[in-house]
Amino acid sequence: MLGGCGAWPMADQACSGYLVEHDGFRLLMDPGYATLPRLLEHVTAEQVDAVWISHGHPDHCADLNPLLRARALGGDSPSALPVYAPDGGLDSVLALDKPAMLADAYVLPDFTIGGSHEIGPFRVDTRLLPHHVPNVGIRLTAGGAALAYTGDTGPSPDVVVLAREADLLLAEATYVDEVPQEDAPYLTTARQAGRQATEAAVGGLVLTHLWPGTDPAAARHVAGEAFGGQISVARAGSIMDLGC
Ligand SMILES: [Zn+2]
Repeated sequence: MLGGCGAWPMADQACSGYLVEHDGFRLLMDPGYATLPRLLEHVTAEQVDAVWISHGHPDHCADLNPLLRARALGGDSPSALPVYAPDGGLDSVLALDKPAMLADAYVLPDFTIGGSHEIGPFRVDTRLLPHHVPNVGIRLTAGGAALAYTGDTGPSPDVVVLAREADLLLAEATYVDEVPQEDAPYLTTARQAGRQATEAAVGGLVLTHLWPGTDPAAARHVAGEAFGGQISVARAGSIMDLGC
């Protein structure tokens, strides 16, 4: 885990960012604000093999820019980085530099939302989930283990579909127990994340994207009233081994 803050980073916590490894392949999910320094504590910019971005909000993709800068300007000239994201979702972050500067540093592979494809050793299943902008939830399967990640979403049966019997559900839980009414279709509480974890019969639940200042223990407690399995809150530096 590289971070777990929603909206903006805190002094001691970056925004969404997760490095998933299998068979030596490194997939970076959601390089949000302030995640690149945390990533570089584990791997170099050139050692990232692919990037998955759930949606185009900057707390999920802003640090793609310094990652691409490090690869384009760092002198090692690695091959173009495959960056998977909803169509048009990265227009703003990719416009931060002149197109020619980073053009050779990345490719944007096509994929069908709602379908299955492969990224390195991972089988990838996706669903469009309800958020303020198109947000794609993902299920990664490799070596007999499965990880589901919601990106940002309101409660949805498709979260349960993606997470069905997964070893781990990494779930947005922006609020502890109540989402402001205008955002209720587009964001999730820790309690709702717990309910969906129970419905999907997952092995464990990691809450992430907590609103800055939220007490992690309060989020964990409320989720625990709805889900009886292992619950943790995403923190930079925490490592989960899914045993595959
Ligand atoms: Zn968002």
